[in-house]
Amino acid sequence: MATARHLEPAEVHGASPAPEGKAQPVVRDPSQRAIDRQAIDHRFEALLKHVHANRPSDDISLVRKAWEFCVRHHEGQMRASGEPYIIHPLEVAEVLAEMKMDSTSIAAGLLHDSVEDTPATNEEIEAGFGEQVAHIVEGVTNIDKIEFANREDRQAENVRKMLLAMVSDVRVVLIKLADRLHNMRTLEHLKPERRESIARETLDIYAPLAHRLGMGKVRGELEDLAFRYTDPVSYEQVAAAVEVRRTEGEQFLRSVEDTLIEQLRENNIPARVEWRIKRIYSIFQKQQRSKVSFDQVYDLLAIRVITQDVAACYAVFGLIHTLWKPVPGRIKDFIAMPRANRYQSLHTTVMSPSGHQFEVQIRTEEMHRIAEEGIAAHWKYKAGSGVVTARDEERLNWIRQLVEWQKEMTDPNEFLSSLKMDLY
Ligand code: MN
Repeated sequence: MATARHLEPAEVHGASPAPEGKAQPVVRDPSQRAIDRQAIDHRFEALLKHVHANRPSDDISLVRKAWEFCVRHHEGQMRASGEPYIIHPLEVAEVLAEMKMDSTSIAAGLLHDSVEDTPATNEEIEAGFGEQVAHIVEGVTNIDKIEFANREDRQAENVRKMLLAMVSDVRVVLIKLADRLHNMRTLEHLKPERRESIARETLDIYAPLAHRLGMGKVRGELEDLAFRYTDPVSYEQVAAAVEVRRTEGEQFLRSVEDTLIEQLRENNIPARVEWRIKRIYSIFQKQQRSKVSFDQVYDLLAIRVITQDVAACYAVFGLIHTLWKPVPGRIKDFIAMPRANRYQSLHTTVMSPSGHQFEVQIRTEEMHRIAEEGIAAHWKYKAGSGVVTARDEERLNWIRQLVEWQKEMTDPNEFLSSLKMDLY
């Protein structure tokens, strides 16, 4: 389960006084500001430690310099909640650190709104932080200028622009996704119409993009956060139905976990077991796709077994089927046949004697990391920065192909529909 954080709103609000008739900004006393400032500095120091722990050979001074620049340039700016603007770049950088990105990405993450929302120029960024950081910030700024929520032909053109920015450096899109994630976490502070259009854009463009890059964790969080605003009625329905079944479901999953751990031990298969209630948006989609009622959604309950190697995966698979009866037509071998986004796992749905159906996913640690983090996982164990590995290349090929197709297409709508086909 993602931890829902509701910290900051998604837009810049200058420190200038509010116009007549509008709500006045919250006036806070200086001592409160000092406390805020201290807390923010503390968070930054924690971020630095995190980045250093992730990548000990990276240049941390670049990140500190970017932070100082960012604090100076966003000085006096507030987000809609009245909190200091710098919370936003800070949290974007924290998301990137969570993905174990390199210090170049962290610095660029801190600076991502500097050119767009402050007097700072690209030349200044390049002079202070080097060509790579400047290039990434420029890419993110260009994506920010894109308005997806408009007529189909403009939308197609804009998606193309974004893909082009990604092709030049994949870190551009990782920062953009981190940016969108924080904006979605803080969407409640915006006006209802803004909320809906940002949420719609998130479901149409950013969540599928995260999916295509294999970033399951980010995609899942984006989808649930957006669904709440694009279709509040359905969101509440599914959420309420999940709530009703939660206690019983969790109890059941714990008993499955106990059985499984014991059986794995008896069979000398080293593995760890995870369980969860599935995400609201994915339950909703499954319902829509298969036109089944809530009681028939098999995948509400999910168990995951993470083991050593491929051989152990198939051993666990066999063991599961001796313990519980498999449901016909629900066995999928994504290890032998990985999905287009490189996702690998064995899937099966089984039935307990009490009549509960649950899905089991079996994978190795490596497959697990790829499933959760996708393209970002490749940045973890790579020495140095700026070099795109062969596997990243592979994953970026789909973008290049799309851009190539686009050149040949005269009708931009054709491009958009083929993109949507590919994304879903
Ligand atoms: Mn931003």
